[in-house]
Amino acid sequence: SPFAALGLSEPIVRAIVDERYESPSPVQAEVIPHVLAGRDVLACAQTGTGKTAAFVLPILQRLAAEALPQGPKPIRALVLTPTRELAAQITERATVYGRYLRLRHTVVYGGVNQHRQEIALRAQPDLLVATPGRLLDLLRQGLVKLDGVTHFVVDEADRMLDMGFLPDVRRIFATLPSDRRILLFSATMPATIEALAKTMLRDPVRIAI
Ligand code: AMP
Repeated sequence: SPFAALGLSEPIVRAIVDERYESPSPVQAEVIPHVLAGRDVLACAQTGTGKTAAFVLPILQRLAAEALPQGPKPIRALVLTPTRELAAQITERATVYGRYLRLRHTVVYGGVNQHRQEIALRAQPDLLVATPGRLLDLLRQGLVKLDGVTHFVVDEADRMLDMGFLPDVRRIFATLPSDRRILLFSATMPATIEALAKTMLRDPVRIAI
């Protein structure tokens, strides 16, 4: 499979075969090997290019391979995205792509009652998909911990900027441990996003689709 040639493992390739994807999209071909190699990535890519799989597939694979720390299982991957709809879509894709892996994931977003999200967080997800405002609320209430995060994705960064979420993104970023991989996706690269990337990413691979 051309997906296995990118370095993806058998349980992930099997899930992709189930989806009838024949070959990786350009953003997937560019991004996946670098994420698997543990690099930070700054990618210019629009919605509809297959960017969700470009970050979800290699992150699931790395989580599945990581040794778990002692004690309660931490959230190890965090995806920030600007809207509830995007958060729901990413979560749905994580379910599909991770169906042959033993990983849990959950989603939190604003505009709905928090109670069910609190219960889902107690089930110790490996991956959390979130919109910034609700995640910050939960952090401030001590209902979510990010000190075990090894992989952080900022999805649709330019839209986060337009929606006024960058201060929240920065606050969330500030709570992450120092040893983590970061991927930043944006359809456009205005100077503010370049500057954000410069403060967060270490020696990133730059990809433009
Ligand atoms: P995204 O840009 O991540 O929102 O993905 C857009 C759509 O393309 C989604 O419906 C995916 O299921 C689909 N998709 C992603 N990667 C591939 C691929 N390699 N081959 C065919 N369809 C894909």
